[in-house]
Amino acid sequence: MRRLVAVSNRVGPVRGAVSAGGLAVALVDALRHYEGLWFGWSGRVVDGGEPKPKLAEEGGLTLATMDLPRQDYEDYYIGYANRCLWPLFHFRIDLTGYDRRFAEGYRRVNARFAQALSPLLRPDDMVWVHDYHLFELGSELRALGARQRIGFFLHIPFPPREILLTLPNHEQLVRALFDYDLLGFQTEQDLARFCDYVVQTAGGRMNGSCANAFGRRVETGVFPVGIDTAQFRDFAFSPRGEHVFRHMRDALRGRCQIIGVDRLDYSKGLLRRIGAFEALLDTHADTRGHVEYLQIAPISRGELKAYRDFRRDLEGAAARVNGRFGRVDWTPMHYLNRTLPRRTLAGLFRASQIGLVTPMRDGMNLVAKEYIAAQDPADPGVLVLSQFAGAAQQMKAALLVNPYDVTEVAEAMQRARLMPLAERKARYTELMNDLLRYDAAYWSGAFIDALRQAQLRRASGQVYRR
Ligand code: ADP
Repeated sequence: MRRLVAVSNRVGPVRGAVSAGGLAVALVDALRHYEGLWFGWSGRVVDGGEPKPKLAEEGGLTLATMDLPRQDYEDYYIGYANRCLWPLFHFRIDLTGYDRRFAEGYRRVNARFAQALSPLLRPDDMVWVHDYHLFELGSELRALGARQRIGFFLHIPFPPREILLTLPNHEQLVRALFDYDLLGFQTEQDLARFCDYVVQTAGGRMNGSCANAFGRRVETGVFPVGIDTAQFRDFAFSPRGEHVFRHMRDALRGRCQIIGVDRLDYSKGLLRRIGAFEALLDTHADTRGHVEYLQIAPISRGELKAYRDFRRDLEGAAARVNGRFGRVDWTPMHYLNRTLPRRTLAGLFRASQIGLVTPMRDGMNLVAKEYIAAQDPADPGVLVLSQFAGAAQQMKAALLVNPYDVTEVAEAMQRARLMPLAERKARYTELMNDLLRYDAAYWSGAFIDALRQAQLRRASGQVYRR
């Protein structure tokens, strides 16, 4: 069997993949199936020295990890990936900080990764590169002579052309994508925005699913990321999940719980979400004393000012709601900056009548899928989901909302709260059937199949040029 080589910014954990979340599980499963190698940053930052890849065997896989010199960490990771590409690709030009130094650091790290990975590759490997940290890895590998099939999957949204044009080196970034054999996107909309750039800016053309530009061509496809649905459902009914569920329901004493679980990131729409909860309490007096909102938001990227400012604003908003509406026997809003074990999370989802997932923009959003997977089929909760999450393209039976309209989100919460059991069950069944079918294994299998096919096309004519 051919080997699968996955490359992502961060590697692992392998044994703890189940606790790390959907994507790690999906990748580890695929890698195990193909006797895989996983390459990426170790998560360590070092002062001085020329980093070399360290090889380790773990859980049946080979892991190859690189440390990052401090300057590379600052320029590539903090600078270009997190300060520049992340906001820009989530349509936030206002938060985007471009600096030529960042772009140089990004190229330097992509080149260094390619140099370290290249000698580890076998001629018939399939290489699967993940996400916005590594747009240029494929072209760096090609420059070193790699002829393997190399696919790229973008986990975050692809931005509208007019927004991408504000990035000074947009052409370099998109041109690099044409050194891959296959480009995977989360949704049709992301692919359409990529095609728009190809045709309108790069002066290329689409030939079916094949993009032609810069004198080269690349196959494209849509592969929405799934979760390990059956496993997450089992977590909710595991002894730990059951315990958390019972404990939470006892503590709620018949109150309705709304739950939000998101990394503390400005793309997740948390400030407006608190505003929507406040509007719910404001406009529907029957909710006061009867509804609680639990928001779990582990701190993320705390090195960046935009994230620190955002956190401060959020704490202020949560305090405002509790100050305004709270009673001695009822705290409307609970806000925790904590990472929880998966089984605990599943039990909390199960205990919550409403899952509130309202990002302003999200590549997919796995929390929306996890919330549904954890529900009790006999008494399921209702998902209120932003139309701007990639997941909304698949999860049409959720209550889809525009997160910019706090009144609409408040009304959706009220509707969810009062929804009859029959309608809840019908919506849950439709969503859950889809989640069971299009799970994490389906996603990785579909991408790998398409990569294999894309290679056949390349073998029949396409020649790589730099
Ligand atoms: P993103 O990748 O932008 O963070 P997703 O919703 O796609 O957003 O994925 C987030 C993952 O992180 C989910 O698997 C979710 O369960 C997990 N997660 C988020 N917050 C927590 C938390 N507080 N504790 C444990 N896991 C969390």
